[in-house]
Amino acid sequence: MHLKWRARLTWVVGMAAFVALMLIIKPERFPSPWYVILAILPLVTLIAAQFLAFRCPHCGARAVRGYYGYWVVSDACSQCLRDFEGPFLSEDEVAEKLLAEDKPDLAKRMRQERLEEEDLRNRAALDPQAAATLERILNERLVGVEGWVRDVHRIAQSGQGDRKDVATAEAALKKVQDELAWCRSLPRGSAERSRLTSA
Ligand SMILES: [Zn+2]
Repeated sequence: MHLKWRARLTWVVGMAAFVALMLIIKPERFPSPWYVILAILPLVTLIAAQFLAFRCPHCGARAVRGYYGYWVVSDACSQCLRDFEGPFLSEDEVAEKLLAEDKPDLAKRMRQERLEEEDLRNRAALDPQAAATLERILNERLVGVEGWVRDVHRIAQSGQGDRKDVATAEAALKKVQDELAWCRSLPRGSAERSRLTSA
């Protein structure tokens, strides 16, 4: 059963148990605190279930938040935006999924470019041509990401930006730089090969 429906069923069962216990126990007739504890047990269980039972399988975030959360919980995590029932998607795949809702053609093109890049990455170690193409793509990306980092630093210095944006941009820059360093370390063509074998 989907997490969404499990959550709603849990709420219905919890509330039904609460009402039933109130009707059976009638707290005004049994002033013992144990009856009160027993009567509110379903409500405590509902709150505990929010923290323990209904969590995103991908990032661990709570799927149910607040009292009405049991009814408004959807099929996707509000934190990582991945589907609760779906497979784990990479950041790029999540971006494509969200974009596909408004701009399916652009999302399709992004996916195609990502798959082509993955293919180049897989072949780069043995195929100098693939390594050169990948290096060109990464160089173009580096220019864009460097511009992004400059922008977020400028905004942060003006006191308007968020530190998280700076950290995200810098992490993206490091990722491209690392990939580029790896790509440049790969053997290229006959000249490079002879240099490596003579070394
Ligand atoms: Zn999540």
